[in-house]
Amino acid sequence: MKTRLLSVVVAVLLLAGCTLPGQARSDGRPVVLTTFTVLADIARNVAGDHLAVESITKVGAEIHGYEPTPGDIAKASKADLILDNGLNLESWFTKFVESAKAPHAVVSDGVQPLDITQDAYAGKPNPHAWMSPLNVRTYVDNIVTAFSKLDPAHAADYAANGKAYQAKLQDVQNELVTGLAGLPKNERALVTCEGAFSYLARDAGLTEKYIWPVNAEQQATPQQISSTIEFVRAGKVPAVFCESTVSDKPMQRVVDATGAKYGGVLYVDSLSEADGPVPTYLELIRHDAATIIAGLTGRS
Ligand SMILES: [Zn+2]
Repeated sequence: MKTRLLSVVVAVLLLAGCTLPGQARSDGRPVVLTTFTVLADIARNVAGDHLAVESITKVGAEIHGYEPTPGDIAKASKADLILDNGLNLESWFTKFVESAKAPHAVVSDGVQPLDITQDAYAGKPNPHAWMSPLNVRTYVDNIVTAFSKLDPAHAADYAANGKAYQAKLQDVQNELVTGLAGLPKNERALVTCEGAFSYLARDAGLTEKYIWPVNAEQQATPQQISSTIEFVRAGKVPAVFCESTVSDKPMQRVVDATGAKYGGVLYVDSLSEADGPVPTYLELIRHDAATIIAGLTGRS
């Protein structure tokens, strides 16, 4: 009898600890999956402690052409909500969510997209809309709506968290614009590896030039390199940059050919680890603005 009772207790404990598809985690909170780390941080600011928010791709991962692992697919089947950026950012996403039963929300819905103007992607929307904190205010509205549907009991908290975070977004936007507004006219050019800064360049009044439009397999053709070299020479651009998730080798060729300075690493498609320079989205924007200003002006 004693043994039997024990096995029932063990079975109950095991059940409590395991997760069935569509059900909440053992800690009781619904699970929200995002496609990349930047989105996870923004979503956590809205979720507070009510939801367990996780990113499918890890810190430093290349997110555009990511190949989901069997573990990712298993995670998706247990999620209660999946958030993706949309605007064709995640080329793997449609296939990925086919197997997941969880609802998904596109956080960029309602953002006015800027079109890519260069190469094979010309005319397609630039997916990096989060590089404008003003756009992220719209992301937050969409996240608040999705969370309130998922967990109506905490809708008021999500609305309040969203509002507080939107105020911080406005602050960081003001810092970005004020900081970059101090650049002299001839230094108002932002040269990067990926064309990920169209929204930031628009907000800050910079001319954008990049080697390739979107991180993909075919990168840095000789034409793309020579066109960038020409741009840097013609504008006497003092510094050029590259992103954390790709190799800076192609940009080093631009540096070698022009004498421009390598201004440093910019973060776009991924946060850093918690002890790195950009553990949150707000720090990512601040870090990039400071790196661009220091690179272009020579001041830090
Ligand atoms: Zn990107």
